[in-house]
Amino acid sequence: MTVLGTAQTFKRDWLDGFVTAYGRTVRKVPDAYGVIGRQVPRQGKVAVVIGGGCGHYPAFAGLVGPGLADGAVIGDVFTSPSAEQVYRTAKAADGGAGVLFGYGNYAGDVLHFGLAARRLAAEGIDSRTILVTDDIASGSAEDAENRRGVAGDFLVFKIAGAAAQRGDDLAGVHAAAVKANASTRTFGAAFGGCTLPGAAEPLFRVGEQEMELGLGIHGEPGVRTVGRLDAAELADELVDGLLPELPLSGSDGRVVVLLNGLGRTKYEEMFVTYTRVHERLAAAGLNPLHTEVGEFVTSLDMAGVSLSVMVLDDELAELYSAPCDTPGYRSTGAVLETVELESTVDATLTGAEGAAGEGLADQVLTAALAAVTEAEDELGRLDAVAADGDHGLGITRGMRAAVAAARAAEQDGEPLSGALLRAGTALADASGGASGALYGVLLAETGAGLRGLDSAEITATAVADAVDNAAKAFVELGKAEPGDKTMLDAIEPFRRVLREQAISGAAVADAWCEAAQRAAGAARETADLVPAKGRAARLAERSKGHADPGATSFALIVTAVGAALTSRTPASRTPASRTQAGES
Ligand code: ADP
Ligand code: MG
Repeated sequence: MTVLGTAQTFKRDWLDGFVTAYGRTVRKVPDAYGVIGRQVPRQGKVAVVIGGGCGHYPAFAGLVGPGLADGAVIGDVFTSPSAEQVYRTAKAADGGAGVLFGYGNYAGDVLHFGLAARRLAAEGIDSRTILVTDDIASGSAEDAENRRGVAGDFLVFKIAGAAAQRGDDLAGVHAAAVKANASTRTFGAAFGGCTLPGAAEPLFRVGEQEMELGLGIHGEPGVRTVGRLDAAELADELVDGLLPELPLSGSDGRVVVLLNGLGRTKYEEMFVTYTRVHERLAAAGLNPLHTEVGEFVTSLDMAGVSLSVMVLDDELAELYSAPCDTPGYRSTGAVLETVELESTVDATLTGAEGAAGEGLADQVLTAALAAVTEAEDELGRLDAVAADGDHGLGITRGMRAAVAAARAAEQDGEPLSGALLRAGTALADASGGASGALYGVLLAETGAGLRGLDSAEITATAVADAVDNAAKAFVELGKAEPGDKTMLDAIEPFRRVLREQAISGAAVADAWCEAAQRAAGAARETADLVPAKGRAARLAERSKGHADPGATSFALIVTAVGAALTSRTPASRTPASRTQAGES
């Protein structure tokens, strides 16, 4: 949905901004909704003039610049430009060697560009046309010349632009473009429809659990509805749809691959899909010399992607590799060197599954992991009140890595202190964010405080000392003060009660549980505070009435650890120690 801009003046307003922003490359054609390159017209060079409706950026205006198009004509949203606009833009772009028109195969464009070509001819200006017809979902292979043009527009225009730049005459530029179009196929999938500027409703909706295969770029829904696919399944559908259609006979397998976002699909999501696309194409014997992943021909805010492949011969390979420089696409011409994919080793993805082992660090951290996993959504919601909403995700990811590291350490024979140290490093590494660094320090410094003690020496006093050590490091790092509405507001009371319990002679598990109970109360009380540290401090007022996410997760963690300690040492819960706990 467009939030900025009004339906009536949308085309004029965005073109103004576009030319203002990219004035180093493009300028407006006087009295027309068209742009031409700064150095255009160039005497003796064929002018490549592309166009269509708007809503497809960077197609078409964003593809004007050296090495690509000389000019672009812009219609209203999803509407062909008028013959008059095409004529004026072509005239401004013509350098005496004729004009190659390029556009997707749609009736309105065919009529208006055709009319403009007749007017140019009447004035002695030669023109030819390349109609892009790459969309395999829009017609049968027998009737390929009537298919519509979608993301393949970009590939075909790139070839035409390079041929014109090379100095080919009009017939030569046209022949290269015809070959490019004949070598290009596209197949796409939509997850959600787009909304015209000013409209309240999208042109179509795709069910939550569905995808549409074979989308168009003017909000046309797909030709087939399927259940929602994951990234690899989607890649398979696109590749399976495309492969049988590719004109591979006589080819040595060199291709350009274009994974195109329709407007609302994240680049990161496209890369998730791309790995599988690449593997599948390589397995089919194709050799992607160039790979483009991004937005090239969009459809307003449509959610979805399309996959285009252009099969290369020597000439197309040379032309595609030629450099170009436009607002929407720049290329130095470098060819892809495929590298073996080496997936990152990531302890957050494996290693924390299953029940805890014998080790103490493993057991308490596994309990903590279960607690934060259960509360993940709630912690995220708390963090979203005044900050970025990632605390639940971050702490579960971090704790999973901490468990894996502690488990591995204890299996290696490390004592509790060493296991906690490694767990802290792993937590900080995996979770990132402010709380990742801070929890990492808490774990590691608790471990450091217990160094050199054997299990019999790990008394409540030893633990209280270690926690003091950790809290000190925590404050040194985070610079929080009590009352700043951070984790510290749960840590401080936890630390104090733990010390009191140790002094009164409580056993470790009981002392810890008492302290955890106080921490839980303190975490709830942070709702009355105003944040002074961390992201939330910038929207401090919003946070009133909501507990601090870090303090909340700290209370959950120490509570879970207390329960794990208790179930590990039932003997420690003697009547005597209960009484002492109750008195404090
Ligand atoms: P990020 O703020 O990087 O997104 P998280 O959302 O995971 O990290 O953690 C937010 C929590 O981290 C806060 O609720 C607060 O308890 C704690 N926090 C942030 N900055 C500090 C700091 N300087 N000192 C102590 N605690 C902090
Ligand atoms: Mg956060």
